[in-house]
Amino acid sequence: MTNEQLWQTALGEIELNISRANFITWFRDTFIFKNKEGVATIGVPNGFSKEWLENKYNKLILRAIRNVSSDIKELRFIIVAASSSVSSPTERIIKTPGIKGTPVGQAQSFQELEIDKDTNLNPKYTFSNFIVGSFNELAQAAAKAVVNNPGEAYNPLFIYGGTGLGKTHLLQAIGNEVIEKYKKKKRVKYISSEKFTSELVSSLHNGKIEEFKENYRQVDILIIDDIQFLSGKEKTQEEFFHTFNFLYQKNKQVILSSDRSPKAIATLEERLRSRFEGGMITDISQPDMETRLAILKCKTIEKKIVIPDEILAYIAAHVQKNIRELEGALNRIIAANHTITSNPDMAVVAKILNDIINAPKKLTNHKNIIQAVAEFYDISAADLIHRCRRKEVVGPRQVAMYLMREELKKSFPFIGEKLGGRDHTTVMYACDKLTKEVEKNEMLQQELNLIKEKIYSK
Ligand code: ADP
Ligand code: MG
Repeated sequence: MTNEQLWQTALGEIELNISRANFITWFRDTFIFKNKEGVATIGVPNGFSKEWLENKYNKLILRAIRNVSSDIKELRFIIVAASSSVSSPTERIIKTPGIKGTPVGQAQSFQELEIDKDTNLNPKYTFSNFIVGSFNELAQAAAKAVVNNPGEAYNPLFIYGGTGLGKTHLLQAIGNEVIEKYKKKKRVKYISSEKFTSELVSSLHNGKIEEFKENYRQVDILIIDDIQFLSGKEKTQEEFFHTFNFLYQKNKQVILSSDRSPKAIATLEERLRSRFEGGMITDISQPDMETRLAILKCKTIEKKIVIPDEILAYIAAHVQKNIRELEGALNRIIAANHTITSNPDMAVVAKILNDIINAPKKLTNHKNIIQAVAEFYDISAADLIHRCRRKEVVGPRQVAMYLMREELKKSFPFIGEKLGGRDHTTVMYACDKLTKEVEKNEMLQQELNLIKEKIYSK
């Protein structure tokens, strides 16, 4: 594998792990300058990029590179001025021979450059490339209804579901379709709740709060993604509440997404929660086998490549929980090499995908679990451990007990001891209760999944 192929594959993986804007900003004009004796030297265009990649993305880059070539043990970064003889990445990407002459995995990044500055919409997310199955049909139907009758059908529309299941895609598809359908007559704005918060903070800081308000109150369709990040941010919630009311009263459409239902967002102000519940709440769950296959097919068509059904079926059967990972697996196959796709050898395919599919269950410990549970419910770890008997703490504490039992297989006395010296019968009671509840309470299942994601990303 050449350095170029190595870097393209790693980039394909990195891209799936960070926001599109960050990917473009920090990875544009980068390449592998040298790869020798376990040290990969990444060429970057300026000192600013060097600093960011070194400090912020070192681990991610190393992991992505090592997935392709495990002999690389260390990364270095070097500034290579644009005037050097190395061709620009754009040229290089275009020149990179992909399968059947198509540039590999780069179509996406190029479209990204087209993100509209005013609406923040990425044109690649549309209804036409959004596959519908029983897991998301309600959400899709609601989204379509909102396009047809903005401000009237369902207001607000609230879509929730785990990561990588298509919330952002659907939200942006609404925005893109509204623009298409009503031309410039309706103003659309898409923003993540984190970006909303940081814009709000900086406009407060710069004395431009009126401008900020004005800006958001002029839109016809306001789309805020990943609203769970407003949890615990009182000032932002307050501002958002006023904006929301303003738009709502004028029959303007508000669309929100979150990784969990409004009920499950800790420290969401009651008045916001009840506003959200006043509209339409719908979830996206996990796709079934058939839909996973359809999604993979759709992606290959988009990328204009041909991959044997046998390989697609293998991916669909093994990558089940996350559409982003499904795409990641496909990208990896595409990048691996040409011969696999013309002459599929399933043993080789299995090997390439081995670490995505059989990711060894990472080890964790009771501290990670306590911390993740506390963060999720927005309470302090100390409260969780110690004598606090408030209802908001007792429930999460039982969740922590249950997870320590399930994930660590520890004894009841051990768990009791780590949670403030509680008696083992208390732990037994909690585990028993949760085990029963998990079976019938879907919301609890989702919460547990999200907490586990947190635990294993620590
Ligand atoms: P989320 O916002 O829920 O974390 P995204 O919307 O970012 O998930 O989706 C992750 C990836 O999976 C994106 O590349 C998206 O285009 C793709 N995807 C998700 N759902 C679908 C679908 N139903 N059909 C086609 N592609 C999908
Ligand atoms: Mg998203």
